[in-house]
Order: sequence, then C-alpha cells, then structure tokens
Amino acid sequence: MAKSDYYELLGVSRSATDDEIKKAYRKLAMKYHPDKNQGDTVAEEKFKEISEAYEVLSDAQKRQRYDQFGHDGMKQAFGPGGFDFSRDFTHASDLQDVLGSLFGGGGGMFDEFFGGGGGGRRRSSNGPQRGNDLRFNLEIDLEEACFGSEREVSLPISEECGDCKGSGMAKGAKPESCRHCAGRGSVISGGGFFQVRQTCPVCGGAGTMVTNPCGSCQGTGRSKVKRRLTLKIPKGVDSGSRLRLTGKGEGGGRGGPAGDLYVVMHVRQHELYERRENDLYCEIPIPLHRAALGGEMQVPTIDGYAKLKLSPGTENGKVYRLRGRGMPDVDGYGRGAMHVRVTLETPVKLSSAQKKAMQAVGDLDVEKNYPGAAHIRELAEAFFERKKAINKK
Ligand SMILES: [Zn+2]
Ligand SMILES: [Zn+2]
Repeated sequence: MAKSDYYELLGVSRSATDDEIKKAYRKLAMKYHPDKNQGDTVAEEKFKEISEAYEVLSDAQKRQRYDQFGHDGMKQAFGPGGFDFSRDFTHASDLQDVLGSLFGGGGGMFDEFFGGGGGGRRRSSNGPQRGNDLRFNLEIDLEEACFGSEREVSLPISEECGDCKGSGMAKGAKPESCRHCAGRGSVISGGGFFQVRQTCPVCGGAGTMVTNPCGSCQGTGRSKVKRRLTLKIPKGVDSGSRLRLTGKGEGGGRGGPAGDLYVVMHVRQHELYERRENDLYCEIPIPLHRAALGGEMQVPTIDGYAKLKLSPGTENGKVYRLRGRGMPDVDGYGRGAMHVRVTLETPVKLSSAQKKAMQAVGDLDVEKNYPGAAHIRELAEAFFERKKAINKK
C-alpha cells in the first residue's frame, strides 16, 4: 500500500510552521491515543501514522529530506523496515506534555511503546517499576563523527531516594490508607449505567498516603542525581543516529530495573564540508592559470591536505571525486568520497608587472583558445544575416 503524505496525515499545508504542526499533532494524538481507544487496532495504526508524520515534520532536517525526496528520503532515517514507533519516535516528551493532563500523569504510552516495559506501569504501583527511558541529544562535530570520539557528559537522572528506598516516608513512619479511595486504589465515578472505575487521582492507585514524608526527597520517593558517563561515539554516525545504553536511563522503583538511555547524535554543520550520506562536498577556488594549464594542487580534506590533479583546460564548476576521503560507513563498509567542485577565481589587485603579463596572454588570444566564445560569435553572425534578409522583404 502506498504511504500517505505526512502533511495530509496531519491536515496541514506544506508551508505549515512548527507550531501549526505541533497543534495539529496534539489534536490528532488525543483523538487516536490507544489509551482512549482500547483494543481499536485502526485507531492504533492511525496513531502510529500521525506520530511518524510528526517525527519527520517536527525535525527540520528530516522535513527537508522528506520535502525533497518524499518517503524514499526517509529510508536512511528509519531503516529499511520503515518507521518503528518503539525505536524512531523521539518525541515522547512532547507527547507527555500533550497528553499528561488527559491521562493522569500519562507516562502510559511512553512506557508501552518506547520503553517496551509492560504497559501501564504507573497504574500498578505496588510491584517493581522499570525506570523511564531517557533521551539525550548530543551535539558533535563532523570530525568526531568521522573519526569517532569519547565524550564525558553529566546527566541529571532521577533515582529512587536512598534514604526511604522510594517509599517517600520518613524513617519509622507507617503508610496510611488513602482517605479518598479507602485504600482500594480506585474510585467509581458516574451513576446509573455509566459507572466507570478509575485509578484514584489522590494516591495514583497505590492505596496509601504519605503523612510523614521523607526529608531527603520531600515524600516523592525520588531524588535527582548527576550521573557522569563516558559516551563512545562510533565512526560514521550521522545526525539522528542513536546509541542505546541499556540500564543507563532513569532508575527503577521497588527493585525494578533502570530504563535505557538513548543518545541521539546531532552533527554540527562544518565550515568546509557538506555531508550527504557518506560523501563530503566542498568548493575550492582555483587560479585562472592553474585551470588553464592543469597540474597538481593541494586541497584540504577531512584527513589533511591531499593532492588533486587538475586536467589542462579545467572548466569552472568541474567536480573532481577523491575516493576514500569521505565519511566512514557506520557499519564498517569503507569510506565515502569527497567531491571537490572547483571554481575559477579571477585575480584581483594585480601589480603592473602582472597586468603586463596578463595583457601579453590576452594579445596572443586566438580563436581556438576560446571555443565557447567563438561558437557564440558564429551563431550571432548567422542570426544577424537572417535578420537582414527579413528587413529587405
Ligand atoms: Zn526519600
Ligand atoms: Zn487513593
């Protein structure tokens, strides 16, 4: 089946602003959210589709690729199998903003799709809880992406409070039954046929309340710590590449495992090279005489200076390809090429001796040195002849 257009899916124009895109997604996400449409596979499919569209259109780089190449352009971003919600959706925190109020603290979908740890973890608060997955954006330079590097980072991470072991209670205090739900963890609302059982909004389903809170965490049961990590950046990563660090996410609760940490790379623009896939592109001005005579010159590559052999009579805009001077393939399949586009630079600030030499070359000017100009002259003369003939009639 052909894939639907991302803009159509979100119902926005191709010139929509980031804000319009976010609003449109928010509206649709609320409508199709799986928590609101339990067991409805059509709604779930739709939810994944609009999330994919949002993932692409809310990211300037991906959006530009999509505008240029359509769905084909997304193959690199999402892999050959296409968009995978659990792996490729990087806007879980946006969704929590969007849906938090609707679904009572709303980690729900984040867990189910992103963490993969048994859905609705927040609602069953008595068993072990897996910590949230975290996403961390890391800006790196092109040369780090090329040669790999190590980065020390310090991340604020929430862990179970060590003093109360996550209970939120002061030492020696006993939990009291929640007064709102009488310890049941759920309440019944509505009347007649339309009674609905809901998670207790006061205790969040735990059935207990903290009356004498732990001093270190103010009763939240969690504390923020700074965690220092050394990130190994592999050779060849590109913007959007993800590192997954198992168990380095948010700490779990009640003996549950920690979540994972996803480090998402953003490669900064380089002052000399533009990257497309594994190839690098740059533009090098060359002097007029070098273009005419040809010969060797040094060009800056990401590895350092390299020899480039210009052919005599090199035209403005000619592209030379230097094999193996591009980016390494992230899976280890060699390196891409560097494409050098040469532009002819007209000399300025000539001394009088240089002017004389230039003039001497100009005086030697013969038809066959400039076939382009000669060709235009021929065409023009033929045209003027034709014009004369018409005027005579
Ligand atoms: Zn505590
Ligand atoms: Zn309660």
